[in-house]
Amino acid sequence: MFVLLRIRKHIVSVLFAIAFAFSLFSFSFAATQKTLNVNVIDVGQGDSILIRTPAGKNVLVDSGPNTAESAVLDFLKSKGSKKLDVIVVTHPHEDHIGNMDVIIQNFAVGKVYAPNVTTNTKAFESFLLAVKNKGLKLTVPDVGQNISPDSKVKMIVLSPNKKDKYEDLNDYSIVLKVEYGKTSFLLMGDATSNIEEKILHNSKFKAMLKSDVLKVGHHGSKYSSTSAFLNTVKPKYAVISVGKDNPYGHPSPLTLSKLKSLGAEILRTDEQGTITITSDGQTIKVDKKSSAIKPQAPPSSSTTGYKYIGNSNTKKFHYPWCTWAKKITTGHRVYFKTKEEAISKGYIPCKVCKP
Ligand SMILES: [Zn+2]
Ligand SMILES: [Zn+2]
Repeated sequence: MFVLLRIRKHIVSVLFAIAFAFSLFSFSFAATQKTLNVNVIDVGQGDSILIRTPAGKNVLVDSGPNTAESAVLDFLKSKGSKKLDVIVVTHPHEDHIGNMDVIIQNFAVGKVYAPNVTTNTKAFESFLLAVKNKGLKLTVPDVGQNISPDSKVKMIVLSPNKKDKYEDLNDYSIVLKVEYGKTSFLLMGDATSNIEEKILHNSKFKAMLKSDVLKVGHHGSKYSSTSAFLNTVKPKYAVISVGKDNPYGHPSPLTLSKLKSLGAEILRTDEQGTITITSDGQTIKVDKKSSAIKPQAPPSSSTTGYKYIGNSNTKKFHYPWCTWAKKITTGHRVYFKTKEEAISKGYIPCKVCKP
């Protein structure tokens, strides 16, 4: 009897020790998972933003252009993301959806949100096909809807309205207000001043505009970022996702000077590479070293405005959307602006995509 009691005492203390170790473990686990990370990936001229929530959920807003395929895939893999809980396609321009097909093929995907608009480009077709082949469905979010997969974070859609019709595809951009604790981020996609004005006219949404971080609309172009809008957002940090020496002249000097006069710190992917911003719910930190893990976005000066991709191994050239073009390894990619240029350099047109 006495022996039995002693054993029992022993078991109890062992159980206590295990429980204690477990509570320590889960405490430290919770402590490391408490931040929200917003990564504005260097994709050259285009947008791709990976948000990791405190609960470890992944939200991918846009995929960048096809020229940045390996850069985006490498980045997502380097972050150990296996599942994208939410994908947001802000609008169907190639510099935002160029890699969505490959991403959907390569990762487990939860929900896919896209605006209520279509376009007849190859990039958009490939995206739709990938969604269908994976058995997924597109969801058009409602304005005012919270699409966050993490209850600690809000991701409110400020635009567009489901029934809105616009001339400019950019104005269909899903505008997201991300809030975590006392900190907030405003992601504008390529929305123009037209949308900024609309949001300012909605008193409920106007009150939500003030943000610590602004992902500046439309790569910093002069058709976005009115003074009235920026003065209401009052960002501490203004992030511009843009390619070096792009043919559009983004970002516009006017937008830059407006942001400077607001006292915002300007962060640019063409100068700093991938930008990672972290929030613990109270304060925002910018990881300026994240450019050290800068993915190998193609040197955009040589790739902007190109129409064809050649393979220096096979001496064939393709449209960028061709499945063969996508298989060319980074070291063997050659970019051409015209067919004549490719042919004059000894390249022959691909028989599949027939450029
Ligand atoms: Zn764009
Ligand atoms: Zn666009």
